[in-house]
Amino acid sequence: MAALEIHNVSKDFGSERVLKDVSISIDSGEFLILVGPSGCGKSTLMNAIAGLEPVTSGNIYIDGEDVTWRPPADRDIAMVFQSYALYPSMTVRQNISFGLEMRKVPKPEREAAVERVADLLQITPLLERKPSQLSGGQRQRVAMGRALAREPKVYLFDEPLSNLDAKLRVDMRTEIKKLHQRLGTTIVYVTHDQVEAMTLADCIAVMRDGHILQLGSPDEVYNNPVDMFVAGFMGSPS
Ligand code: ADP
Ligand code: MG
Repeated sequence: MAALEIHNVSKDFGSERVLKDVSISIDSGEFLILVGPSGCGKSTLMNAIAGLEPVTSGNIYIDGEDVTWRPPADRDIAMVFQSYALYPSMTVRQNISFGLEMRKVPKPEREAAVERVADLLQITPLLERKPSQLSGGQRQRVAMGRALAREPKVYLFDEPLSNLDAKLRVDMRTEIKKLHQRLGTTIVYVTHDQVEAMTLADCIAVMRDGHILQLGSPDEVYNNPVDMFVAGFMGSPS
């Protein structure tokens, strides 16, 4: 059974159809990368999976359950956005713990989860700081820690590294890869960086104008692109 199944999903904003009959199935533990040019509908799809935007038609299943009409809080998903919105008045510890508190997780478990992700992301020395006392890379780690504390069925990352400088981006990419290997989590990850796509993905979905053009392994998509657009986008050899 798929960990996440997107079944014939379409989404209109007014008269504009932004997602056009999108179907993707992701196995448990799989790392799916979604790539495509700006405006093609990647964030809209992520928001639909998260339940932040209602779909116009189609269905979304998590672990076989139809969650299409469930609110975000009932979807067992954690999301890391491009603009990692941390709560400025809370410490790092409180930021990581807050989502668990909202879900009424008892305090000892919350504390254990904070220690676990802080250790994993090497942010233990930062736990009592406020976001304003952190660098961009450290903030991004905290945002990731907040998501990881939850242990949801599916993680959604929407261009999580695009605000970081090149060196940090490479470091974080390596860390995300290690995290995935260690935790075996199911991840949908949006990027417009082809190198990021090729290094992280088990599977790549190439999107254009609200359509999935190709879905396959990095090797397939890179070496056997379905058309010139995919070839150009992936930088495939001609
Ligand atoms: P991407 O993440 O691939 O850059 P988006 O999913 O953000 O693309 O946007 C896809 C299209 O949907 C764009 O044309 C964008 O202008 C439009 N769009 C996104 N969100 C909204 C919204 N809330 N209302 C109206 N149009 C939107
Ligand atoms: Mg986007």
